[in-house]
Amino acid sequence: MRFEDQRKLLVQELRQQGIRDEAVLAAFSKVPRELYVPPQYKDYAYRNRPLPIGLEQTISQPLMVAIMLEHLELKPEDLVLEIGTGSGYECALLAEIAGEVCSVERLEELSLTAQGVLKEAGYKNIYFRIGDGAQGWLKAYPPHKEFDKIIVSAGASQIPPRLQEQLKPGGILVVPVGAGDYQILTKVIRTENGYSVSEHGACAFVPLISK
Ligand code: SAH
Repeated sequence: MRFEDQRKLLVQELRQQGIRDEAVLAAFSKVPRELYVPPQYKDYAYRNRPLPIGLEQTISQPLMVAIMLEHLELKPEDLVLEIGTGSGYECALLAEIAGEVCSVERLEELSLTAQGVLKEAGYKNIYFRIGDGAQGWLKAYPPHKEFDKIIVSAGASQIPPRLQEQLKPGGILVVPVGAGDYQILTKVIRTENGYSVSEHGACAFVPLISK
């Protein structure tokens, strides 16, 4: 089957699994996942499962990414921080929906590969940093200190304090929290005088590696 048709089936599956945000579904209809997986896995690109991308890392499961993006309640004008660029797939989905995406990856090799694919795809609204994403953005350009939305696509042992500090008031952080192989998908909303935290089920991510 052509990738295009496989992509339509994946979007149908996401709908059946309960994804309702039309902007999220439109982004999944648009971004070719086969471009973000290693050549030997292209035939599996539209299975609803994570796949290896080298260096012991994975491109996340599409349904899990869709659930996280839905929790972010993305708007076209949003400024988004993504921790764990990985393959660049989720980054492309974010760039389709939001205004601007800043993406941090600790492994240089993965970041450079993703940067190549995303530039080739024509995205002009993505900025990259190589380093520890748990510390936030920290780059002079663009000089952002706070974000509307922050997504962490690796499992953190606790809610990263520096990341919740980089939320704008009303901003949303989605992060898998847990010390082992499994985590709890956690949503943090910055309120006027603090943070409101809610939990949204179990998930399994590679660990967020941070000092
Ligand atoms: N969003 C990615 C998921 C990649 S898996 C995708 O769609 O493909 C998670 C990624 O987080 C890995 O590439 C891993 O190297 C990275 N990572 C782990 N700890 C990190 C940290 N402290 N800062 C930035 N990236 C980190």
